[in-house]
Amino acid sequence: MSQAPGQGLYIHIPFCHQRCHFCAFYLEIHHARAAEEFVASLLTELRLYGDTGLLGPAPLDSIYFGGGTPTTLSSQQLATILATSKQMFGLTPNAEVTVEAHPGSVTRDSLAHLREAGFTRISLGAESMDQTELDRVGRPGSPMSTVQMVAASREAGFTDINLDLMYGLPGQTLESWATSLQRTMELTPTHLSCYALTVEDGTHLKAAVQRGLVPPPDEALQNAMEDLAENILSQTGYVRYEISNYCRPGFASRHNRLHWTGGHYLGVGPSAQSYVAGRRFGNVSNLSAYNTTLGSGRLPVSESDQLTPADDSCERLVFGLRLTDGVSLRETGAPSFPALTEKVDDLIADDILERNGELVRLTSRGRRYADSVAVTLLASLAE
Ligand code: SF4
Repeated sequence: MSQAPGQGLYIHIPFCHQRCHFCAFYLEIHHARAAEEFVASLLTELRLYGDTGLLGPAPLDSIYFGGGTPTTLSSQQLATILATSKQMFGLTPNAEVTVEAHPGSVTRDSLAHLREAGFTRISLGAESMDQTELDRVGRPGSPMSTVQMVAASREAGFTDINLDLMYGLPGQTLESWATSLQRTMELTPTHLSCYALTVEDGTHLKAAVQRGLVPPPDEALQNAMEDLAENILSQTGYVRYEISNYCRPGFASRHNRLHWTGGHYLGVGPSAQSYVAGRRFGNVSNLSAYNTTLGSGRLPVSESDQLTPADDSCERLVFGLRLTDGVSLRETGAPSFPALTEKVDDLIADDILERNGELVRLTSRGRRYADSVAVTLLASLAE
């Protein structure tokens, strides 16, 4: 945990072919012409940031293409974006370069092209290995396409493969979740992200829940599913290194770790968020405004917040607590802020946190309350 976190680039591709019922991300439905205009704007944004020297001279340790569905763009467009990113910021020789993909949006040829262009890691949104569960949340694709695209990714030369899974889906049972996990294990990914379904405002799912057409997620069942995942995955050699993330030893996502260890990351693309040198800033969540702003040679930043040392320290603590190993209090700078350390002591007394020397982490009970722990710690600075 004491190793320097490095710095990364996050590239938000704001297109999907359709919107899943639970999804609240900023995105547009993909059209070829809109995609071309977006790519031109994105290249301008990368060049503007390259010229500012904001990230300093050190090359990037990771680049992450997320979305949306990055692979709605052609592999040639993705290769061009990657090449411009490398040109502007440099890349360490063994950098992690991830592309998120929907299994239905890639082919053997496009995967081979992406690998050749320099992508080192692929993250496939499987979500469930049960077709009925996918259909109930309006998720396109099939478990079979996940199986086929994992195999095709390997053939293309990807050795680092993540699969995303969701639990607490409408109609999902402990048994069907166990089956999804088992079928996923058979594909031997290097990394697995397991997310609890949440009902976000403005989604199709939220409307269905409000109209009584779909039951809201059952928290007790989701907790049981989380425990089941940890049991099954740990028995198959996966390490739970963060609340929602498991990996084979040595395959923790470097990009994700940047967020949890106070590393700098620059986000480009509509709605992308950045954290550089104690400043958080974010881009406008509107493709048209994004294009127009960059067309006039300006960066599309719509919000910016220079954190106070206390807030910066608290955020590092909050993010670091997501890691199973925990976080060094000293490295977060928390000991300089008594209100924060007093709250940490209270949470230790309540069996939510535990401390071993400088390291503090969530207890297994505390993991259930990670979000409220974050709120409590942030509020302690305002008391
Ligand atoms: S594929 Fe991902 S980003 Fe696109 S709508 Fe579905 S959940 Fe949202």
